[in-house]
Amino acid sequence: MSKCIVLDAGHGRYGNPYPTIDGKYEGTQNFIYAGKLAARLEKAGFTVLLTRPCIDDDPSLAERGALAGKNNAALFLSLHSNAPGSSTPPDRYPLVRGVMTFYSLTAKEENAPFAAALNAAAAEVMQSDNRGIMIREYPGVPEDDYYGVIRAAAKSGCKQAFLIEHGFHTNIDDATFLTTDVCLERLADAEAAVITAYFGD
Ligand SMILES: [Zn+2]
Repeated sequence: MSKCIVLDAGHGRYGNPYPTIDGKYEGTQNFIYAGKLAARLEKAGFTVLLTRPCIDDDPSLAERGALAGKNNAALFLSLHSNAPGSSTPPDRYPLVRGVMTFYSLTAKEENAPFAAALNAAAAEVMQSDNRGIMIREYPGVPEDDYYGVIRAAAKSGCKQAFLIEHGFHTNIDDATFLTTDVCLERLADAEAAVITAYFGD
């Protein structure tokens, strides 16, 4: 039995329009990238399940995460790009960039090395900043993860649950990378290699 990996392309098709490039959406670019990464992982011998098999799919966060436990997945990986929070001053907004990875606090020690390796590989390929890895607790419930997909995956039984922010689609350099096919191919090569190193047989 080959190991199962669940890839979650964040948001729906028209989720989070890029302010940097007309007509581009985070939800669409995540979907395109998930397909490229899935192809490489399948070639490496994994069984890959997508939370969004079709571009118009937009399941709930709970459904996305639960797909991992339901299929005994060895890894749940949610694919995103970022935007600065409202506390960032408008003149700083387009300048913020860099890659960060969140991981489930339900398996903190086991998850950190893979999160760090994945994040470093992505930052290098994107020639962007490495903003580091982190866990985030649900407010008032310190044993629960903050992010809905991570929380749902962990609660369904897959504690190897991660969410990567592939740079900021609000930054023109990160956004250009994320909308350039050959760049996404290189990113998928690098991330598939890290995943195979940590989760392969
Ligand atoms: Zn996102």
